[in-house]
Amino acid sequence: MTPQPIIHHIDDALLMAYSAGTLPEAFSLAIATHISMCDECRATLESFDAVGGQVMEDQSPVTMHDDAFAKTMAMVGKQSIQRPKPANDIPSVLVGYIGGSLDDVEWRALGGGIKQKIILAGRDATARLLYIPAGQSAPDHGHSGMELTLVLRGAFKDESGHYRAGDIEITDDSVEHTPVADEGEDCICLAVTEAPIRFTSIFYRALQPFFKI
Ligand code: ZN
Ligand code: ZN
Repeated sequence: MTPQPIIHHIDDALLMAYSAGTLPEAFSLAIATHISMCDECRATLESFDAVGGQVMEDQSPVTMHDDAFAKTMAMVGKQSIQRPKPANDIPSVLVGYIGGSLDDVEWRALGGGIKQKIILAGRDATARLLYIPAGQSAPDHGHSGMELTLVLRGAFKDESGHYRAGDIEITDDSVEHTPVADEGEDCICLAVTEAPIRFTSIFYRALQPFFKI
């Protein structure tokens, strides 16, 4: 299979926040995964990291506050997960969270053939794998914060565009969307949400506390 060019990238503001180590782990995970698949964002990140490193060097030790130390440690941690290693069908940065293969995920059914697996439930953000069968639509929903959706297998489209493996969709409060998986292949995404997303359908809203969506 020839790799398809990535069309949907991480914006500069998010990359800068990632470089500074200020994002919740769930968001960092999605960004690190995209970067491991995308030369363009990796190059941009390296330029931000170089600038950030220079700022650190320019500071004398007395001006280095506790949180600067924490951020530095976060950056060190981030760099260690960023190094690409060979993996089967999943990016190596995800192996520690979901194991070696997308085919071995222990899914939890959400109805309508949609399945999910929560891989990181943090205080600020949750990362989950989402499985949408070919040709099916995920429940339409709005967001009470930022949502990142990174395609790992297959493809989907919604009101804002067409997303294939490696593409990342960035949405926020202003967006309501209905992702629909392409025909021909089931779609698996890494989805990170900032706060509980609110499903527009009363049915899914009723299930929300149950499934921790
Ligand atoms: Zn990119
Ligand atoms: Zn969404």
